Amino acid sequence: MKQQLVVVGNGMAGVACVEQILKQPHEFEITIFGDETHVNYNRIMLSLVLAGEKSADDIVLNGVDWYRDNGIKAKLGVRIASIDRERRVVIDQDGAETPYDKLILATGSSAFIPPIPGVDKNNVHVFRTLDDTQALLAKARPGLKAAVIGGGLLGLEAARGLQLRGCEVTVIHIMDSLMDRQLDATGGAYLRRKIESLGIRVLLPRQTAAVFGNGHVDGLRFANGEELEAELVVIAAGIRPNVDVARQAGLNVGRGILVNDHLETSDPDIFAVGECTEHRGQTFGLVAPLYEQGRVLAQAITGKREKEFGGATPATKLKIMGVDIFSAGSIDDSQPGVECVKFEDPGQGVYKQVLLKENRLHGVILVGDVEDEYTYTEWLRSGTDLTGLRRQVLFPPRDPDPGLELADMPDSETICGCNGVRKGDIITAIHTHGITTMKGIKEHTRASSSCGSCSGLCEKLLRAVAPDFQQDTKTTLCSCIPFSYEQLRDIMRGQQLKSVEEVLAVYGNRKGCEVCKPALSYLLDMIWCGDHEEDRSARYINDRVHANIQKDGTFSVVPRMRGGVTTPDELRRIADVADKYNVPMVKVTGSQRIDLLGIKKADLPKVWSELGMPSGQAYTKGVRMVKTCVGSEFCRFGVQDSTNTGIELERRLENLFTPHKFKMAVVGCPRNCAEATVKDLALVGQDGSWQVVVGGAAGKSVRKADLLITVETTEQALEACDLFFQYYRENANYLERSYDFVERIGIEKIRKETVYAPDTDKRQLLERLARSKALAKDAWSEGAQPVNPTQFVQIQPIAATRNQETAVLC
Ligand SMILES: Cc1cc2nc3c(=O)[nH]c(=O)nc-3n(C[C@H](O)[C@H](O)[C@H](O)COP(=O)(O)OP(=O)(O)OC[C@H]3O[C@@H](n4cnc5c(N)ncnc54)[C@H](O)[C@@H]3O)c2cc1C
Ligand code: SF4
Repeated sequence: MKQQLVVVGNGMAGVACVEQILKQPHEFEITIFGDETHVNYNRIMLSLVLAGEKSADDIVLNGVDWYRDNGIKAKLGVRIASIDRERRVVIDQDGAETPYDKLILATGSSAFIPPIPGVDKNNVHVFRTLDDTQALLAKARPGLKAAVIGGGLLGLEAARGLQLRGCEVTVIHIMDSLMDRQLDATGGAYLRRKIESLGIRVLLPRQTAAVFGNGHVDGLRFANGEELEAELVVIAAGIRPNVDVARQAGLNVGRGILVNDHLETSDPDIFAVGECTEHRGQTFGLVAPLYEQGRVLAQAITGKREKEFGGATPATKLKIMGVDIFSAGSIDDSQPGVECVKFEDPGQGVYKQVLLKENRLHGVILVGDVEDEYTYTEWLRSGTDLTGLRRQVLFPPRDPDPGLELADMPDSETICGCNGVRKGDIITAIHTHGITTMKGIKEHTRASSSCGSCSGLCEKLLRAVAPDFQQDTKTTLCSCIPFSYEQLRDIMRGQQLKSVEEVLAVYGNRKGCEVCKPALSYLLDMIWCGDHEEDRSARYINDRVHANIQKDGTFSVVPRMRGGVTTPDELRRIADVADKYNVPMVKVTGSQRIDLLGIKKADLPKVWSELGMPSGQAYTKGVRMVKTCVGSEFCRFGVQDSTNTGIELERRLENLFTPHKFKMAVVGCPRNCAEATVKDLALVGQDGSWQVVVGGAAGKSVRKADLLITVETTEQALEACDLFFQYYRENANYLERSYDFVERIGIEKIRKETVYAPDTDKRQLLERLARSKALAKDAWSEGAQPVNPTQFVQIQPIAATRNQETAVLC
């Protein structure tokens, strides 16, 4: 007969402990009760769900398959109301009984709701569970006035999440400094400045005396008589361990369920793990020590009792993008024998405080620069004697060889606090599964898959241990602003940031560099459709002077000739300019245009004005040209009017910036005389239809374009071009050519999100393109007239031609 093991609580600690038990030889039949209806998920990541960085599915730790595959009975949405210790059964809220031989209480904590009058009104929420988060998401909307009571880790993360959803957020904290349990007053002041710079209002110190409103909350009243208008209130005022069931069962309970070093309660058959516990007077609010508890308990319950739980050193990290805060150990510098060493750089927003006691690390606060958090964690854990390092305690020496630095770290050291993954677990996984990438580390160990703060360390470990280490595709822009393109788009939109300077000031190192500044400038242009502060110094030199710099320092000038078509009058002007400015070379380009090479910088404005032609933008990351063939107007094979269609395509998209240079072509039949199939975007005329092809290349890379769609009319073809063009502008990384982009995203997905997207999505893409186009200017003539932007938003029906999408190019 197998023993019945019942676990009450399907949260992070309870299930992590079950995972450990499953690794041991055991004779248990396991049943887990959880009063939430969801499978086991990562509670830590709720902040990221609220902020829109993760979905509910992304944070699942163990899905239904896991319970099934391990023979675990999951009773979800079932609350255990009491325990009958004499009969050894747990009783649920409906009176059903489940017998146990061993019982683990993993009931976690609940949000503490202070006894404030009016706190039970509608739209007053807590932030503890996935249901809480989904309730907040359902209410959050742009412009909603939201108040968060509590300026600790949870309150700030809730505030930031709501603000990224467009709410106008105020954080209210009872103390005179934010995160006062983890930071001293100076660190709190730095944090406050950073939070305010994100656009979140902070009121300190304020004691909330009442929540007012008629049924629904209308606002908060403070003890000093002030009032704050609020349509949504989130209470993040701390947590309380869930001990009612244990107390009712007669177990020893203090602030939490009392446990010994083996996580045994006062009943030898009942164990407790997680935030519901109290161990040697300590309760818990962070997950790292709870994983350790799980390991110890798994041994104790399977009869080993080799390990003991020794408590935990508090270590906190804030998970708000761009706000780097780390605090560990004690922050109390008033204790006898405690020495305090500090560093402050207000310009960079960096503050460090290191507390030493008898030359050993006692506590640390890092604001704005948390690079060394693991060194400090290690010093705290090991009690390293820092006598010889006194001059470097604020800037710990870094080993140039990451392998050596990590070699000193014991295998039992936790690297990923969010998922309780230790150095030894990662090394074992690297060897067992032959892992060579960070993606592999995440898949096999979960390390670095939550808040991501340990990814640097995981990568170092991977480099040191895996002989065939492979760098994952670069996800962050550069070290000046360490965010991915996706995150930067969210930041710019969410924060309404409209200049490169602002973005770098709030999220970067203020200065920026040649790599990130043009990329940020492009992203802003694309997100705000040109309605933003253009910082010309953030552009490449070619864009600043609107011409292509040559190796002798002169410039080349390429006027626009739409579709490669010109007139005798234009040719005369080009000839006159070439004579007048002694242009050493006049050259016909591969793009069917005329290039005047060797022009001095000082002559550029005069040359542009005397040419009287728009810029061909042959120098920029933007629309270059549309190459056309003769087409049906003159060619005896032509079945479509490629020349006029090409001219129209160029007119629609010219003067717009793209992630990289963007070349197009239109040909009048599949003979393809203008090499359409190796262009970023092209139309290939067929008898009675057009093929729209994307992602071709004939430069350093050679790639035949993919078929996006086949359509019947020229209007449909042009609309398909608009859709792909705007989609590429919005989703490609800066400097990503369309051929890499199409391969990365996949043509099926691109089809689904452009030409076969729902009409509303298509309309939105086209409207954004129209907005950008309305503000786009010819670089050589500020007064140039843009085309009528409304042309973009007439959706063309395409259903009739979908069945042709498999047609192949000649
Ligand atoms: C938004 C948010 C952000 C956080 N960020 C971090 C962070 O960055 N770093 C960090 O270390 N920690 C963080 N935490 C804390 C971390 O999530 C907790 O320490 C951890 O979840 C505790 O695990 P637990 O299993 O003890 O409790 P829980 O995960 O709360 O699980 C307990 C479960 O038991 C259920 N339950 C309770 N009573 C019963 C009953 N009688 N019958 C059936 N089921 C019951 C509860 O509903 C719950 O589902 C965060 C918490 C939140 C809410
Ligand atoms: S592609 Fe066809 S239509 Fe165009 S020039 Fe060549 S043969 Fe003529």
